[in-house]
Amino acid sequence: MNLLSAKDTVHVEICLKQNENHLETLENLLEIPVREYIAVVKVPLGESVKINEIIIEGNSALADLKLIESLLIERENKQNGEVLSETDLQNLSLHFYSPLRRVMELETFDIDSGDTGECDAVPASNHWLLPSSSFLHSWENLIYEDGLKEKLLKFALSALIFSQHSVNPHIISCNRLILLHGPPGTGKTSLCKALAQKLAIRVRRTFRHTHLIEINSHSLFSKWFSESGKLVMRLFAKIREIVVDPNNLVCVLIDEVESLAYARDCMSGQEPKDAMRVVNALLTQLDAIKEHPNVLILATSNLADTIDLAFLDRADIKQYIGMPNIVAIKTIYTKMLDEMMRVGIILEQSLKENDNHEGLLSALAERSQGLSGRALRKLPFLAHAVHTTSSDFDLNGKIELSDFLDAMLAALE
Ligand code: ADP
Repeated sequence: MNLLSAKDTVHVEICLKQNENHLETLENLLEIPVREYIAVVKVPLGESVKINEIIIEGNSALADLKLIESLLIERENKQNGEVLSETDLQNLSLHFYSPLRRVMELETFDIDSGDTGECDAVPASNHWLLPSSSFLHSWENLIYEDGLKEKLLKFALSALIFSQHSVNPHIISCNRLILLHGPPGTGKTSLCKALAQKLAIRVRRTFRHTHLIEINSHSLFSKWFSESGKLVMRLFAKIREIVVDPNNLVCVLIDEVESLAYARDCMSGQEPKDAMRVVNALLTQLDAIKEHPNVLILATSNLADTIDLAFLDRADIKQYIGMPNIVAIKTIYTKMLDEMMRVGIILEQSLKENDNHEGLLSALAERSQGLSGRALRKLPFLAHAVHTTSSDFDLNGKIELSDFLDAMLAALE
C-alpha cells in the first residue's frame, strides 16, 4: 500500500478511451510511450490536454497513444502553465484510469419503507462509482486561489494514510471529516465531488473501487421530515454494506449538512423532537462508520454558524470557500471563452495578445467581483441570448470576440 508520494513527485493522470476491463494491459502497453511523449512534448502543468496527433503520426513507437483521451500533469508546487523540467521527468508517477460511463453508475438507494415491504427510492441520495465520466475535468475547471485544492487533496490523502496505518485515535485524533463552508454557488459541492474523483484516480493501487455517495440533506430532511432520523440510519446501513469490503474507498458527501446537523442548542422549546433525533442519528452513525479505515466524509454548508457543535468538533478541517477573487474570475472567463471558440460560437482569436481584448476582459473581471462562480458560469449564455444583435454575427454565424466581450459586459450590468 502506498499512498505516500515525495514532495517533488510529478503526477501524470492518463485518461483512457477504453473501458476498464483492459486497464492493466493498457497500463503496461502505454507506460513507455507516455514517458517518451512527455519528454518530447512540453505539456503545461495543471491543464488537461489531448495527445497531439501530429507527433504520434508516423511514429510507430508512439502509435498506441491513440488509446488515450487526455493527459493531466500536476506537481504540488506549480505555477499554472509551467512546463516540466529535466528533474521533473525523473519523478513521474503515472496514474492510468478509464472513466466509468455506464448508466448504472448512478443509483438511488431503495429504502425499504418498513412493514409494508414497499420500496421507496430516496431521491435525496446518489451513488457513483469513480472515476466517473460525470466528473471528468471538473477538478481543473474549479478555480480557487493557488494551493487551496492541493491543500484539500493532501489533507484527504494524509487522513487516509493515518487510517491505513491504524494510528490509534486515542493518541492522535483524525476523523476523516472535511467540511467546506461558505456562500452558496461557490463550488463547494462540485469541489467535494472533484476531490473524490481525484482520490479515485490517485489511490487506485490501494483501493480497487472508489464509491461516492451523496446525501442531499436538505431534500432528505424536508421530504421525509418525521422519518428522516430513521432514514439516516438506513442510509448508513447501506453505506456500511459497501464499506465492509476493504478494497472499497467510500466517500460520503453530506451536502448542506446544516439541515441534518442543525445546532441542538439553537432549537427552541417547540422545535420538534424529530430534528433533535436526526442530529443524534447522524452523529451516532458518523461515529460508527469512521471505525472503518476506508471512509472519508465530505460535508458542505452554506450556514456553518447553525451546525451543531458536536458535528463541527468532529471536522478535522473546516475550509472556508469564498467568492472567486479577480485572478480566479479572469481564469474562469478565459476558460469559458476558450470553450466557446473551440465549439465555434465565437471566432477563434487570441485573448492575450490583443490589448483591446485584454482590456475588455480585465474590465469584465473587475466588475464581476462579488459574484459567485455559479453566477459567472451563467453569464456567457445570458450574453449570447439577450445581448447580441444580428450585426454581431459574421457570414458563418460566428461572433467577434470583442463584440462578445461587450455583450458580456452588458449582461453583467
Ligand atoms: P455550492 O455547493 O457552493 O453551492 P456548487 O458546487 O453547486 O456550489 O457550484 C455551482 C456551479 O458553480 C458549479 O457548476 C461550479 O462549477 C461553478 N463554480 C462555483 N465556484 C466556482 C469556481 N471557483 N471555479 C469554477 N467554477 C465554479
